[in-house]
Amino acid sequence: MVLFSRINQAYRRLKVYMGNHQTWGSTHAGVLGAKPVAYFSAEFGIHESLPIYSGGLGVLSGDHVKSASNLGVPLVAVGLFYAQGYFRQKLDRDGFQNEEYDDTQVEHLPIKPATNQEGDPILIDIETRTGHIKIKVWKVQVGRVPLYLLDSNVEENDPEDRQLTSRLYGGNERTRIRQELVLGVGGVKALHAIGICPGVFHLNEGHSGFGPLEVIRCRMTDDGLAFDDAVREVAMQTAFTTHTPVPAGHDRFAPELVEEHLGPLRDQLKISFDEFMGLGRIDPQDPSELFCMTVIGLKLSRTANAVSQLHGSVSRRMWASLWPWRVEEEIPIGHITNGVHSQTWLANQMRTLYNKHFPTDWADRLGEPSVWNGILNVDPGELWETHNTLKARMISFIRRRLVDQSSRRDEDAATIDFAQSVLDPEVLTIGFARRFATYKRANLIFSDLDRIKSLMNDPHRPIQIVFAGKAHPKDQPGKDYIRAIANLRNDPELKARVVFVEDYDVNLCRHLVQGVDVWLNNPRRPLEASGTSGQKVVLNGGLNLSILDGWWAEAFDGKNGFAIGNGTHHVSDEVSDQRDAESLYQVLENEVAPMFYHRDIDGLPREWIRRMMHSINTLAWRFSSDRMVMDYAHHVYLPAAGGLSCKM
Ligand SMILES: *Cc1c(COP(=O)(O)O)cnc(C)c1O
Repeated sequence: MVLFSRINQAYRRLKVYMGNHQTWGSTHAGVLGAKPVAYFSAEFGIHESLPIYSGGLGVLSGDHVKSASNLGVPLVAVGLFYAQGYFRQKLDRDGFQNEEYDDTQVEHLPIKPATNQEGDPILIDIETRTGHIKIKVWKVQVGRVPLYLLDSNVEENDPEDRQLTSRLYGGNERTRIRQELVLGVGGVKALHAIGICPGVFHLNEGHSGFGPLEVIRCRMTDDGLAFDDAVREVAMQTAFTTHTPVPAGHDRFAPELVEEHLGPLRDQLKISFDEFMGLGRIDPQDPSELFCMTVIGLKLSRTANAVSQLHGSVSRRMWASLWPWRVEEEIPIGHITNGVHSQTWLANQMRTLYNKHFPTDWADRLGEPSVWNGILNVDPGELWETHNTLKARMISFIRRRLVDQSSRRDEDAATIDFAQSVLDPEVLTIGFARRFATYKRANLIFSDLDRIKSLMNDPHRPIQIVFAGKAHPKDQPGKDYIRAIANLRNDPELKARVVFVEDYDVNLCRHLVQGVDVWLNNPRRPLEASGTSGQKVVLNGGLNLSILDGWWAEAFDGKNGFAIGNGTHHVSDEVSDQRDAESLYQVLENEVAPMFYHRDIDGLPREWIRRMMHSINTLAWRFSSDRMVMDYAHHVYLPAAGGLSCKM
């Protein structure tokens, strides 16, 4: 009965949502109506039930799609259907990460085969030098935005190719280039087969960088253009977003793999092998360069952007050699800072509070600064109480998860008992959850174990911390970090203060960002392109404690959270790590803990609550994905659709 009425209610709300045609896009992005934006991404984090994402990139794509829907910006999304998704993380008793792959039950998901205009299911054919890959297409309707997912699991393929798209970031280099062939070239073919003619192609990261080549081929075949003219015209409609300064984040392929997979397409483009390889090389004449997907993305797009202001300047420096005749400031890579989908990450209790104090249509105007002034009308006591309710809820969720973890590992009754009551709702609680890539330095806070022990166990101002995150299956150092942190539960001085919750995903993230007091982020500067989890915390009243990297470098104003370090870094990683750890301890000891525990006669931490309000007021609108998609519409999509010149 309860379930039934929840479904009915959701259905009614969806109808109201879809029935509103007076959207931002209808007045500002109407020209995209007949020729929508095609948004390509290798990952989409829409909901935990569809595990086709591994981390920030995917969640960002999901939030982009949701905001495009809210705003009514005409957009179709293209990705891959990974039947086994990314892995589920289980730690054994000794803290070793095990990876488990479950088959996604398509019949339990709101997903159906995509059809062409005759209503028939679609089967795409991609030719390589060593055979054909056939692809079927699924459709997921995300509000107003259709998401098309390409799947190689069809009878016509040999058994190996049927597995091609089964796992995200699985297999070897050959798997990888085949997946990217499917995403880019297959994606363009799929849209064509469905009957969609995009006005703009947005390549979200280099994985889809082969896509424009298929568009170029169409222009040559259909419109009789020469290769160079087709390149110029297609680049005018193409936008590229780069997401990381970490070298391993840029796919590079050997010439043999490129020729095997792109050879037949190259024949139709009527260019030589060397010319083709040149598209993926910084120096087209240099035979020692591999084919880089970021380079082709940069070469085949009219606008390119990084994902925060700092990442913009880092990227301009990083790719300057592509434009050797330009000074660094004129390298054509701008930035649009990432944001998050407020309605996905906002706790219901906070939403209720906002409903009470914000303008009635606030949810449709999230990207407007004035809307968020409403937070200043909220009673500090009410805000604090709401936060503490959410914190208590998070702690019971974590306890349940820890009990499950221990029971699964057949641990003794005492351990399970301990998990049942671990974490103290009165204690300053820090969250640290993200992929365990080593540059994110999950272990930084344990650099000086004695020091953190005394901070965490301070009799007046104790601190506790919750960790979560997966390491890539092949990332041994990342796995070692996980093991080291998980095993702190064997240390009598830390077992009550440090917990590791398994299997970080969108669901666990939602619980954590809604309940923590403080969100810690300490990447090795400047390697965090943006980071978005801290933006989710803002909406719910948590405070950021972060290195001045990624989005935080432009967000921090001295009063809307806390900064680690002074926004510089040393050439030596060792020195940077040491300085950042020292700064982290000092800020915790001298700023964060004193402010949190300083209470007035009503028991309220007034200064802390002021910071919460200031954080919400100054950051929530700026780092919402509604603002982000509006920026993409103004600076990227509309100029690309209209052929206007672009000034980002
Ligand atoms: C938001 C989110 C991320 C991104 O976190 P960063 O702060 O960018 O590291 C990663 N994983 C999940 C599941 C998320 O929800």
